[in-house]
Amino acid sequence: MKTKVIAVANQKGGVGKTTTTINLAAALAELGHRSLIIDIDPQGNASTGLGSDPESRDLTTYDLLFEDVGLDAASIPTDVENLDIIVSNTDLSSVDLDLVTQENRSFLLKEILRSDASTLAGYEYIFLDCPPSLNILTINAIVAADSILVPLQSEFFALEGLSQLMVTIREIRETANPELRIEGVVLTMFDKRNNLSLQVEKDAREHLGHLVFDTRIPRNVRLSEAPSHGLSVHEYDRYSIGAQAYRRLAHEIINKNKELG
Ligand code: ADP
Ligand code: MG
Repeated sequence: MKTKVIAVANQKGGVGKTTTTINLAAALAELGHRSLIIDIDPQGNASTGLGSDPESRDLTTYDLLFEDVGLDAASIPTDVENLDIIVSNTDLSSVDLDLVTQENRSFLLKEILRSDASTLAGYEYIFLDCPPSLNILTINAIVAADSILVPLQSEFFALEGLSQLMVTIREIRETANPELRIEGVVLTMFDKRNNLSLQVEKDAREHLGHLVFDTRIPRNVRLSEAPSHGLSVHEYDRYSIGAQAYRRLAHEIINKNKELG
């Protein structure tokens, strides 16, 4: 089995990266696909959202990147069966500086995931929850990833930020990661009664075509409540429209990858 590494990225904050990472990974895990989330955002929202107490974070993504601890040692189980996480904290915020002088600074994560290939085989999916910028952490994620999944918030200017991301993706493809695919763009916080949401969807489908997932993630208060309980939305309110949408997205990804073989 080949592990699939998916970077969840968009340099805009608050667009649904972390919500998507947690609930998509949890949906895949529930379906029996063993998955790992690596929290590479110093804010540690994915870690907190899955119930990790910031005070008691022992080994973090920082240790994975700089202390040679290895994937196996750094990952901890979550309450969701089949889902592990490598947590992060503010230690990671110094990485930009720590890495300035290092020559291979964009390849750090890729090299770790490569050298840990035997352990990787235990996971079908590895999700990289990126910080809200195109900094060196995000670059490391995109360089290390097989594909990139972009949450697009259904609001004004949503597509503007996307072109900058597409330029970065093209640059990384030309240099560090020629195999990089775009897993897809998922519309988040969608409100079908709102004309703006519909307009963003129309624009996105016009410009990005098949890259846009059929599944739209609706704006749903259950999705914003779940992380404060340290739960995925599937555990928190399984039949909420948010939970159902993320399960549909999981199926869409599974089917898409089946077709690709
Ligand atoms: P990012 O990781 O891109 O910064 P988050 O996933 O943290 O974005 O989402 C930003 C905020 O919006 C959070 O408070 C989150 O709970 C909320 N949120 C995300 N997606 C939805 C949604 N579909 N419906 C309602 N609230 C959402
Ligand atoms: Mg986030």
